[in-house]
Amino acid sequence: MRTPLIAGNWKMNGLADAATVLAGQVVDAVSAVDGVDIVVCPPACHLERVATAIAGSNVALGAQNCAEVPLGARTGEVATEMLADLGARYVIVGHSERRQFYAETDELIAQRFQYALGAGLRPILCVGETLEARESGQTEAVIAAQVDAVKTVLGESGFGDGIIAYEPVWAIGTGRTASADQAQAVHAFIRERVSADLRILYGGSMNAENAESLLDMPDVDGGLIGGASLKADAFAAICAAARQ
Ligand code: PEP
Repeated sequence: MRTPLIAGNWKMNGLADAATVLAGQVVDAVSAVDGVDIVVCPPACHLERVATAIAGSNVALGAQNCAEVPLGARTGEVATEMLADLGARYVIVGHSERRQFYAETDELIAQRFQYALGAGLRPILCVGETLEARESGQTEAVIAAQVDAVKTVLGESGFGDGIIAYEPVWAIGTGRTASADQAQAVHAFIRERVSADLRILYGGSMNAENAESLLDMPDVDGGLIGGASLKADAFAAICAAARQ
């Protein structure tokens, strides 16, 4: 049985006080939701205060990125050991904004995935095709390369406790969601390449209105939520929709 997982990616939003307030609102809004793993991923500079705000609740802490090397000389980076030390249990790797704006490659992302597992974190590997790739029939080739990069670094069964988030780039922050059938088709394709136990989330303009139809699909095990995770009520409604 795969426990549903809903993770909020707050991206680079909110100053310190706003992060504390939002964390408290999320804790209150989801307190009655059981049977769902619930995660918030604030900016790195807010991890500690959010850890304090969610302590003792059913909300876990995640980070948005991590380094691919151990503690040491990497100016500006945050090591997986540091994230674990702050109480993080999850970390997003390879978000399409990192691939697009910071030229992160499949190989680098696979190494981050490996280090995250090594530090006892659950990495959430983001994969997804651009609109151009979809329209030229390249969706499966792109996804296969992104997933297989982790296998190259870690071996066939190397996903461990990790998670995959299918996030079509054309659906992120655009208000244009993949249909439930489109999402299911790609999730089933990913499922064939990984173990039956691995959780595969959908991400891309998921909101309180469309969550149920996406989460009803057999291979959609949860969601990675951007914009809607910044409103506690909307995020809580998605968490409730994921309840088994
Ligand atoms: C994301 O950035 O991971 C995401 C899914 O964003 P949004 O929900 O805003 O499309």
